[in-house]
Amino acid sequence: MSITALEPLSFPTDPEGWAVFATDRPAERIARVAAIDERLKADPPHATIDRLELWNDAEIALAEALSGAYLLSEAHPDAGVREAAEAQVQAVEALSSARLLDRDLWAVFADAEAAGLDDGASRLLAHLLRDFRRGGVGLDDETRDRVRALTDRDTELSLAFSRNVRDGRREIRVPVAGLAGLPQDFLDAHPAGEDGLVTLTTEYTDLMPVREYATVRETRLALIEAYNDLAWPENEAVLAELLEVRAERARLLGFTDWADYETETRMIGAGAEIPAFLSRLDAASADAAAIEYAQLEERLRRDIPSADTVTVADFWYLLGALKREQFDVDAQLVRSYFPFERVLAGVLDVTARLLGLEYRPVDVPTWHADVTSYDVLRDGERIGRIHLDLHPRDGKFNHAACFPLAPGVSGRALPEAVLLCNFSRGLLEHDEVVTFFHEFGHLVHDILAGDQRWVRFSGVATEWDFVEAPSQLLEEWAWDADVLRSFTANAAGEPIPADLVARMRVADAFGRALEVRRQLGHANVSYRLHVDRPADLQAATERIYATTSPVQPLPGQHPYAGFGHLTGYGACYYTYQWSLVIARDLLSGFESGLMDPRTALDYRRSILEPGGSRDATDLVEAFLGRPYSFEAYRDWLAGS
Ligand SMILES: [Zn+2]
Repeated sequence: MSITALEPLSFPTDPEGWAVFATDRPAERIARVAAIDERLKADPPHATIDRLELWNDAEIALAEALSGAYLLSEAHPDAGVREAAEAQVQAVEALSSARLLDRDLWAVFADAEAAGLDDGASRLLAHLLRDFRRGGVGLDDETRDRVRALTDRDTELSLAFSRNVRDGRREIRVPVAGLAGLPQDFLDAHPAGEDGLVTLTTEYTDLMPVREYATVRETRLALIEAYNDLAWPENEAVLAELLEVRAERARLLGFTDWADYETETRMIGAGAEIPAFLSRLDAASADAAAIEYAQLEERLRRDIPSADTVTVADFWYLLGALKREQFDVDAQLVRSYFPFERVLAGVLDVTARLLGLEYRPVDVPTWHADVTSYDVLRDGERIGRIHLDLHPRDGKFNHAACFPLAPGVSGRALPEAVLLCNFSRGLLEHDEVVTFFHEFGHLVHDILAGDQRWVRFSGVATEWDFVEAPSQLLEEWAWDADVLRSFTANAAGEPIPADLVARMRVADAFGRALEVRRQLGHANVSYRLHVDRPADLQAATERIYATTSPVQPLPGQHPYAGFGHLTGYGACYYTYQWSLVIARDLLSGFESGLMDPRTALDYRRSILEPGGSRDATDLVEAFLGRPYSFEAYRDWLAGS
C-alpha cells in the first residue's frame, strides 16, 4: 500500500460527537491492546519479528489513544470533553505502565531470539527490554504493586497540575494611566470599564506587551505577580506530592533519584551530569551577565532614582528600552511589520521552501473554529496533516507547544500533529514570531519522522534532551533579513528593512547572558526540586532564582505552581540549553545559506526524517560530518 492511500482522522461534526470521540475511540484502542496482549501471552508467534510486529500493533493503538486524549484534554473548548479526555489519558497511561509490569508479557520478549533481526528490529527489542526494566517488571510482587500505584498517581497529579495551570488565568484591574507606554492597538483593545479601570489578564497576549512596554512599574509588577502565582495555591500540594511520588518510584526502581531515572535514556546519561552541565553554563555566562546587569540597573535608576534592584518585573522592559536607545531597535516599529496573517503565511511558505514541502489547506471540521488544517505533501504525496490552533481562549493550554495527534507508521497510518499557541490576532511581537518558527520546528519534525515501520521511533521520538534542537535551529530563520523580507509588511505594504533586521541582530546579543541565567534558574529549580525535595517549595525556589540570576525574583511569589514543564520535563529543564548547544552547532552546517537547498535536504534526511530510529549523537554527526561541540554555543553567548 502506498502512503498516499492513508487517510487522515475525521473528527465529529456535532458537539455531542466529541464526547463520544473522546471516550469511545480510546476505549476501542484499549480493548485492542488487551486482545493483542492475550494473544502474545497465550500463543506467542515463534519468530521474534512476529512478536515485535504484534507489540508494534499494540503500541500504535496506545499512541493513537493517548495523543488524541492528551490533545483534547488541553484544547477542547467544552470542559466536559476535556474531563472525559483526561480520564482516558489516565486509563491509557495506566495500561501502558501495567504492561511494563507484566511478567508474562515480558517473558515473551526476554526469551525471544535476537539473532537475525535487522538493525531497526534489534533496536526495538533492546529499547523494549529497557522499557520493561525501567517499568519495574523485575521487582517482587509487592514492590511492583507499589510502583504501579505510584506511576498511576504520577499521571493523576500531572494531569491535575496541568489542569490548574490551564484554568488558572488571572486578571488584574489598573487605571488607564497605568497603561502608559503600550501600543495604540493594545489600548484600543483594552477600554476602561465604567469604574475607569482596565482589565488585564495573565494570557500571553496581555502579559507580553505589558512586561515589555508598560512604563509604569506598578502595572508590570501587578501583572507579573498575578502570573507568578498562577495555579497557586492549588498546585502547592499537587507538586509536593508529585515530587514525593517520583522520588519513591525512582528509589524502588533502583535509581538514586528521579533525575537519575529520567536521564538514563537521554543524551546526558546520568543525573549527576545535570549540575555539571549547568555549572558549565554558569561559568560561560557569569561575567557577561554581570556587565549586562550593571547596564540594566543604571537604566532603571534613570526612571526610578531610588530603585536598588532589577527584578523580573523590570527585565523585559529595560531590555526593550536599552535596545531602543542604544541599538535603535524600536520593538513597536518592529511589530508593525508582523501582522498575524502575514506571519502565518510566511512560516508556512518558508518551511515549505526549506524542507521541500507543500501545505495544502483542507476544510475539515475540528474542535474549534479557530483551527486551520493543512495536508503536508512531499514530492506531491501526502505525508501527514497539521492543525494550527493559534489564539487564546478560556480553558485552553496557555503556552505554546506542539502536540502529536496521530502517530505515523509506514504504509499504515498518516502522522498528524497540532500546534497549540496563544498569539495575538493583530500584530505579533518579534518574540512571538520566533516562537512560531520554534514550534513549527517541532511540527515538521513530527510529520517528517512519521514514516517509520516501528511506531516506537516515529515522530519526535528521539532522546528527550535532543528534542529542542530542531526547533531552536529553526528560530534562526526568524532572524534572517532575506527570509523576513519574503513575508513581512507594514500598513503601507513595505517589508521589514534589512538594516533594521541587522540592528535587531546586534541588539539581540545584548541581554543574552542574562537570559541564559534566567534559563539556568529554571533548570536549577527543575533539578533541585526533584533531587532535594525541599520542605518549603516557595523559600527554596526563591533562593535558587535569587542566587542564579542577578535579575531578582519577586519576593513571596510561587512561580513553581505555574511552571508547566515540571510535569513533562521533570528534573530535565536543562534540556533547553543542552539542545541549544547542539542547535548552535547544527547552524554551522548551513554556511552556504539558510535556504541552501542541498544543505536543507541533507538536514531533513539526516536529522528530521530518522525520528528515533538512531541515536541523536549519530544523527548530528551524520549531518555535521563530525561530533558536535560546545564552541558554537560559547561564540553565540559571546555575541557573535
Ligand atoms: Zn520547544
